[in-house]
Amino acid sequence: MKKDTRNLVILGGGFAGTRLAADIERKLPKDWDIYLLNRTNEPGELRFDQLVLATGVEANTSLLPGMHEHALPLKTVGDALRLRNIAIERLEQATIHPQSDRRRQLLHFTVIGGGFSGVEIAGELEDFLKSATRYYKNVDPDDVHITLLHGTDTLLPELSRKLGKKTQLLFEKRRIDVRLNTRAARIEPGEVILASGERIGSGTIICTIGTAPTTYNQVA
Ligand SMILES: Cc1cc2nc3c(=O)[nH]c(=O)nc-3n(C[C@H](O)[C@H](O)[C@H](O)COP(=O)(O)OP(=O)(O)OC[C@H]3O[C@@H](n4cnc5c(N)ncnc54)[C@H](O)[C@@H]3O)c2cc1C
Repeated sequence: MKKDTRNLVILGGGFAGTRLAADIERKLPKDWDIYLLNRTNEPGELRFDQLVLATGVEANTSLLPGMHEHALPLKTVGDALRLRNIAIERLEQATIHPQSDRRRQLLHFTVIGGGFSGVEIAGELEDFLKSATRYYKNVDPDDVHITLLHGTDTLLPELSRKLGKKTQLLFEKRRIDVRLNTRAARIEPGEVILASGERIGSGTIICTIGTAPTTYNQVA
C-alpha cells in the first residue's frame, strides 16, 4: 500500500461491489487507490479513507425450528452446486433401495417458499431430475416428486397475479405439486410439519424463505 495515496475500500465483490468498482475506477482522482475485497481475498488489516459495505445478504436459517439443521438454503452458487450433488445422491440411493415407499420418500423434494428463488429452484430441479432419471434404470420417473409450498394465494407475489397464476399452471403441467396458502411450521429430519399439523415426508427440503444482512463477526 502506497503511503501518499488515499484508499477506497469496497467490502463485498458481488453485484454491487464490482459494479461500483468498475464505475468509479476512472472517475477517482489519481491519488486514490481502490481495493475490492471479497471473502476469499481479505488481506488482514487494511487502512481506508472511504469504506463501502456491499456484502449483501445471507440465508436466514433461523425462521423455522429445524430449518438450520434439516433444510438446505439457496443463496450462493455453492448452495446450488451442493443441491445438484444431493439430487444425484438421492437418485443413487433410490436406485439401490428395495422398498418403493422409501424410494419415493428419497425422491421427494420439497421447496419452501414460492418467491423468485423457490420458483426458480423448483423448475430447475424438475428439469434436472427429468433428464437425470433415465440414467438410473431402477428409478421409476413417477417416484420423483417435487412439492412447492407457498404461504399465500399466488406464487411470485412481487409480480402480477396473472404471472403468478401462469407459473402455477405451468408447474402443474410439469407435475410440480404447488400448494398455496400452506405454511411450514417446523422441519424435522426428512419431514416438513405444516401449520395444519400435516407431515410431508421428504428426502430433501430446500428453504428459500428469508434472508438477513450479512453479519460481520465472521470477519477474522
Ligand atoms: C437463487 C437466486 C437467484 C437470483 N437471480 C437473480 C436474477 O436472475 N436477476 C437478478 O437481478 N437478481 C437475482 N438474484 C438476486 C441477486 O443475486 C442479488 O440482488 C444481488 O446479488 C445483490 O447484490 P449485492 O452486491 O448486494 O450482494 P451479493 O451479490 O450477494 O454480494 C455480496 C458479496 O459480499 C461478499 N461478502 C460477504 N461478507 C463479506 C465479508 N465479511 N467480507 C468480504 N466480503 C464479504 C460475499 O461473498 C458476496 O460475494 C438472485 C438471488 C438468488 C439467491
